[in-house]
Amino acid sequence: MSGARNFEKRCEQCGKLVHIQEYFLTGGLGAKEKEEASCPNCHSLLYKAMTEGGFRTSLIEENSINNKK
Ligand SMILES: [Zn+2]
Repeated sequence: MSGARNFEKRCEQCGKLVHIQEYFLTGGLGAKEKEEASCPNCHSLLYKAMTEGGFRTSLIEENSINNKK
């Protein structure tokens, strides 16, 4: 497992910060498909890319982290 994307993106619809993590399916099928990641808060589309797995999203509570940019 290498090259998994793991990043944060701000939702343009509701302004929430969302953590997006790519995961890979086991089984070695290796079929690349276009998968979408949507905002857990408002369910609008955040990100779309080719992947052999899919994307997990989770809301980042900005109150609990120090105001880093
Ligand atoms: Zn949103």
